[in-house]
Amino acid sequence: MRSLLMQSPIAIATAWIGVYLLIILSPLLTLLLYPASPGRGFWLEFSVSLGFIGLAMMVLQFALTARIRTIEAAYGIDIILQFHRYTSIVAFILILVHPTILFVTDPDTLQLLNFLEAPWRARAAVVATLALMLLIVTAVWRQRLNIPYEPWRLWHGIFAATAVGLGLAHAFGVANYLSLFWKRGLWLLFGLVALWLLVFVRLVKPWQMSQHPYLVERVVPERGNVWTLVLRPRGHPGLAFQSGQFAWLTLAISPFRMREHPFSIASSGDNLDCLEFGIKAVGDFTNSIKDVEPGTVAFLDGPYGVFTIERYWDAAGFVLIAGGIGITPIMSMLRTAADRKDDRPFLLIYASRSWDDITYREDLDRLKDKLDLTLVHVLREAPDDWSGETGYVDQALLERYIPTHRGSRHYFICAIPKMMDQVERALHTLHVPVTHVHMEHYNLV
Ligand SMILES: Cc1cc2nc3c(=O)[nH]c(=O)nc-3n(C[C@H](O)[C@H](O)[C@H](O)COP(=O)(O)OP(=O)(O)OC[C@H]3O[C@@H](n4cnc5c(N)ncnc54)[C@H](O)[C@@H]3O)c2cc1C
Repeated sequence: MRSLLMQSPIAIATAWIGVYLLIILSPLLTLLLYPASPGRGFWLEFSVSLGFIGLAMMVLQFALTARIRTIEAAYGIDIILQFHRYTSIVAFILILVHPTILFVTDPDTLQLLNFLEAPWRARAAVVATLALMLLIVTAVWRQRLNIPYEPWRLWHGIFAATAVGLGLAHAFGVANYLSLFWKRGLWLLFGLVALWLLVFVRLVKPWQMSQHPYLVERVVPERGNVWTLVLRPRGHPGLAFQSGQFAWLTLAISPFRMREHPFSIASSGDNLDCLEFGIKAVGDFTNSIKDVEPGTVAFLDGPYGVFTIERYWDAAGFVLIAGGIGITPIMSMLRTAADRKDDRPFLLIYASRSWDDITYREDLDRLKDKLDLTLVHVLREAPDDWSGETGYVDQALLERYIPTHRGSRHYFICAIPKMMDQVERALHTLHVPVTHVHMEHYNLV
């Protein structure tokens, strides 16, 4: 079993789904093992079951967002966060349906909403549900509500801890269901796991990062409003990563402050002495990179991500499609391949605004001497004497360059969301197998 899991990412991914289902259904299984007291009807039992499943799903959200490497390595952060979003909404619906059934089947229970007179366990449930509601609204509409990322992240954690903590308190308070020692034990375990994950994320992980500091070696301007930040490990061997992966960067402050930003590593996976990040100035943090002094302390949490050609070691070649700053993970793939004297064909289709904006333009030209690399620049604003590709990376353009035997290559796309969607659709229409298309999204939230 172990060797099978080690060989097959699909087996690992399937095993985690099994574990997830087992955990969220375990409260139900415990209810089934012991029949409920006589006189309790179907709707009451059904309503309680929904509440339990919803609460178990909420507890597991902590595990999904704790950046546990074995889980992350099975799916990639994109898929995990999508799953986190959808399951939060499902959990929220289950938790809302749970009391609604009670109110409809036994209208007397509406009195539980009277906050002043209701027992504490009902009040805990009301506050937990309100916290969950705020959590969902601020997460789904963060951008529309114009909430900056950092305060949002802080409040997201507070709402989540409140919802789960008070939800568990509510479950414990309703003694009917948890009167048996081992049922209490199960929920106590859930509570402890949630608490441990909080401690792990807020204390253990930052402490581990603080033990592996980096120093800024230099900051180098690149084309396209991008700065290369070069970090050198201090007192440790550095971060071993697969080309295309990313890390969370904390700069000039303690990792316990939890103000970190994700960036793809742009340097070669074979050069651990210095790690390079290509950072485009788009907001408060990224605009400050150009002013960072050499010697500034930095911390990394990583590597993460499954956007790496190294998972497909037996592919005959690669088609890499980048837009703007989406070139950074691809740069790492090409630099690593060059260091390893990889002789497979690489096709890079790279969309930029103008000729002068092409980040790493000269580096890419140099890589052509070391690799079987076909470079296709696509410019939105082309100079008059430009004879290359212009406009957008659409189906017609892709058809001109990708190999006739579509399945002989693996395809890696990193760009703004609109371009990624268009390219994904076009590749699908061009019969590229869906299992051969890999994407890295830079807009996680
Ligand atoms: C896997 C991954 C790899 C990335 N690699 C690169 C890269 O190689 N080069 C590069 O220039 N950019 C990269 N980014 C994007 C980069 O993380 C954001 O541009 C940066 O965090 C913006 O911070 P800001 O304060 O300058 O901008 P803001 O204006 O504060 O944020 C702009 C947007 O960036 C996102 N963002 C902001 N802060 C964070 C944060 N702490 N964590 C997650 N998302 C945040 C939010 O969607 C926000 O709306 C990557 C993002 C991801 C998810």
